[in-house]
Amino acid sequence: MKHFDYIIAGGGCAGRSLALRMLPYLEVSNKKVLLIDKDSKKENDRTWCFWEQQPDVFESVVFRKWNHLSFANSAHRQHMDIHPYQYKMIRGADFYAYTEKQLSESSHIRMIQGNVESIYTEQEQGYVVVDGETFSTDYIFSSIPRIQEKRPDRYQYLLQHFEGWIIESKSPIFEPERATLMDFNTAQQVGTSFVYVLPLSSTLALIEYTVFSENELPATAYTTALKQYIREQLHCEDYDIKEREKGVIPMSDHPIKPQQGRIIYLGTAGGFTKGSTGYTFRFIQKHTAAIVAQLQKSGHPHILTRSPKRFDIYDATLLHLLSSKRLSGEKIFSTLFKRNKSQQILKFLDNETSLIEEIRIFKTLQKSEFAMALLKRTLKLMKSN
Ligand SMILES: Cc1cc2nc3c(=O)[nH]c(=O)nc-3n(C[C@H](O)[C@H](O)[C@H](O)COP(=O)(O)OP(=O)(O)OC[C@H]3O[C@@H](n4cnc5c(N)ncnc54)[C@H](O)[C@@H]3O)c2cc1C
Repeated sequence: MKHFDYIIAGGGCAGRSLALRMLPYLEVSNKKVLLIDKDSKKENDRTWCFWEQQPDVFESVVFRKWNHLSFANSAHRQHMDIHPYQYKMIRGADFYAYTEKQLSESSHIRMIQGNVESIYTEQEQGYVVVDGETFSTDYIFSSIPRIQEKRPDRYQYLLQHFEGWIIESKSPIFEPERATLMDFNTAQQVGTSFVYVLPLSSTLALIEYTVFSENELPATAYTTALKQYIREQLHCEDYDIKEREKGVIPMSDHPIKPQQGRIIYLGTAGGFTKGSTGYTFRFIQKHTAAIVAQLQKSGHPHILTRSPKRFDIYDATLLHLLSSKRLSGEKIFSTLFKRNKSQQILKFLDNETSLIEEIRIFKTLQKSEFAMALLKRTLKLMKSN
């Protein structure tokens, strides 16, 4: 049986982020990694957007970045200078090509394409079965989706589902320096819905229609919403669709065990998708950087610190409000953006604010609705015990 010091099961965003960050450590420690994915990862299957203050390891593949964001609803439009943050966009295809090149040049990493059939721990060793062949390892890092039995009596489950088009207009209609983070000028009956607009030039932009609800919509509903937004909000009738992206991100407060025996879960499988927003990219980067720092410090990858627990309670409360429809997402996000500095909101959504800063933010929100949602969510947990 072949043995590797570490096996990374799943070579998407999290698996490759970890592998790339591990490279200097592998050189020094002379350790070997096996990275497995069932796909060749050549497609431009998604676009990642996120904000950060300092350039990180993927800066060279950042496709566009913006210093200014907008927020809009039917009543107002707000422009925000988000310095020292920048809002960034990475195309999946660029990320995969860059990591492929870096990782394949290292003699410490072996990349294979195959179906991971099972992962398990036995007597302090990890095992990974790939297309019938078993490999042993000291640690498995897995980002392969996990199937969890749902507990709707205890937890909330929403989906963030979206379709985006890169469109090219015949005349200049976009402001390339400013991205629209959320525009609620969309029908709200289907659930909380908004559009974001990421301009790539004055005639080219990614327009993405996003909905938070329990179920996906029929395919035609996304097309209708996008066409309507482009016509009514962007006042554009003449355009070509250059690319399309579709996706679903789970939003839930169902706790996920991040480690089991010799298995450490990464990415969405590890619970690094923020329950209330679906943002994952930055959380993956912080998690994988912390694992590598721990390896360098102690030789083992177990890290104790995730985001403080209170952020899980905030996410669960917001999810409860969104699922119960007691307060619309439009109202919540509009209040948040109108009454707080954009930098504070970005810091808060990154789980990086202090308790004092959070109290200041909460004072600006719809206190009674949030208090009621917190109470109902707590009662739900107590009742189902
Ligand atoms: C279309 C889309 C757009 C998104 N946009 C954003 C965004 O803008 N910002 C943000 O923060 N988050 C975004 N997300 C959420 C999140 O960042 C991504 O889903 C991200 O790719 C999660 O990383 P991951 O490594 O957990 O999962 P993945 O990147 O999906 O990687 C998992 C890997 O496991 C492989 N795999 C699965 N099963 C097996 C198996 N049995 N054997 C071998 N390999 C297997 C898959 O092929 C895949 O490569 C988006 C998600 C989607 C779907």
